[in-house]
Amino acid sequence: MVEIRLHNTKTRRKERFDPIDPDNVRIYVCGPTVYDRAHLGNARPVVVFDTLFRLMRHVYGADHVTYVRNFTDVDDKINARAATLAEGGDARSLEEIIRALTDETIGWYHADMDALGALRPTQEPRATHYIDDMKDMISTLIDKGFAYVVRDQSNNPPEEFVLADREALLSSHALFEVQKFERYGQLSGRWLDDMIAGARVEVAPYKRNPMDFVLWKPSTDDLPGWGSPWGRGRPGWHIECSAMSKALLGDVFDIHGGGIDLQFPHHENEIAQSCCANGTEEMARYWMHNEMLQVEGKKMSKSLGNFFTVRDLLEQGVPGEVIRFVMLSTHYSKPMDWTAEKAAQAKATLAKWYRATNGIEAAQSVPDAVVQALADDLNGHMAIVHLYDLLNRDMLSELKAAISFLGFGEAEEIKWWRMDPLVTGYGVSPGQIAEIPPVLDQIVRRIQALRDERRYDEADAMRSALRDAGVEVRITKSGPETMLLPDFDPAKLDALE
Ligand SMILES: [Zn+2]
Repeated sequence: MVEIRLHNTKTRRKERFDPIDPDNVRIYVCGPTVYDRAHLGNARPVVVFDTLFRLMRHVYGADHVTYVRNFTDVDDKINARAATLAEGGDARSLEEIIRALTDETIGWYHADMDALGALRPTQEPRATHYIDDMKDMISTLIDKGFAYVVRDQSNNPPEEFVLADREALLSSHALFEVQKFERYGQLSGRWLDDMIAGARVEVAPYKRNPMDFVLWKPSTDDLPGWGSPWGRGRPGWHIECSAMSKALLGDVFDIHGGGIDLQFPHHENEIAQSCCANGTEEMARYWMHNEMLQVEGKKMSKSLGNFFTVRDLLEQGVPGEVIRFVMLSTHYSKPMDWTAEKAAQAKATLAKWYRATNGIEAAQSVPDAVVQALADDLNGHMAIVHLYDLLNRDMLSELKAAISFLGFGEAEEIKWWRMDPLVTGYGVSPGQIAEIPPVLDQIVRRIQALRDERRYDEADAMRSALRDAGVEVRITKSGPETMLLPDFDPAKLDALE
């Protein structure tokens, strides 16, 4: 059995991975809040943990890994977005708008992440389907004395109501009392006393401790809400993950993952809730966090004008495989810089790999070195180095198996690289090849497109026109190959445009 080693945020060490149950390796990763297109930074954990999922499936068997990634479909950002749509003249009820907004966003998310070659997780629970589990967990926390309920006095119903009705109408906050959980702060290494001393935010008056966090909050009539012992309301964000992971993976599972920005307070709060409600020492054995993403050396932000979504890149013609390649090239524990140059290099490399492996049968097993690279704390860069090596040694069947293991698909099912013509020269200088006018590229792409549509006569007519300009286009199984001949005359290409 391959030994997997992972950096565990909890112990701050690289440790050997030993599953609780090798027949069912259980992974939970915090998923998106669904109100908008995923930006490029959102895609990083998806690619990182997809690689982990693929590695675990390879080592323990595809049917012995359960990967859960949730959709947060109840959240104040979703409500705010829906309210904006309603103000903009959307005549539907707020509830209908929210439903349509979250459904549409989940559809976008699937399409975008599929394009990156990410396998769908085993389960993708929606928070709104687990409200009862959340209420149960909150009740347990209150019963055990880890949480308390505060009446919202501002929502006080008029005096004329009899007492029992007033009680029913009063809505409340349920809060987790961090002081009751000794280990609070252990994962992130932030200790309660320091945090309280450093707290500059205005503290809600109903909190016993400034760091206490919301388990349940009241909803006004125009907001989504569910009936509960604490009045009509909605869950806090943190309790969603505790309840869904418990329902689908049990009280203690193997790996919990997410972006480093979630380590505090989100993951700290998940641990506090789960350990106190379930009476366990830990929530997950291993905690993994990916670092953040930058663009051309700067933090991605709307104000800097370098903010873009995965869909933006795909629409600009950057293939999903290229995005995946760039992401795998940087170790997940390091900040990653997206640059146009890296994307261009990745595209050229992938095109070379696809061209070399097109029509070749993949080896039965993935080369050991590639598996070992991922088993060493998901070292994607090292895995890619091994793929270069396989190409150099002409081990094409092994290369093909490795390409697909890393989630880059197979040459036969991917179209874009065929449109990237391979250009060589015969009796022309390297300088001439380097300065080929872009129009040649366009013409060769057009020839390939015509052939794809089985318009062979038209494609052949264009090829013979190119031959008059001193360019030979050969059609091969792996796409067109362009060769410049000694009588190459760029001026004649312009006439073909
Ligand atoms: Zn979470």
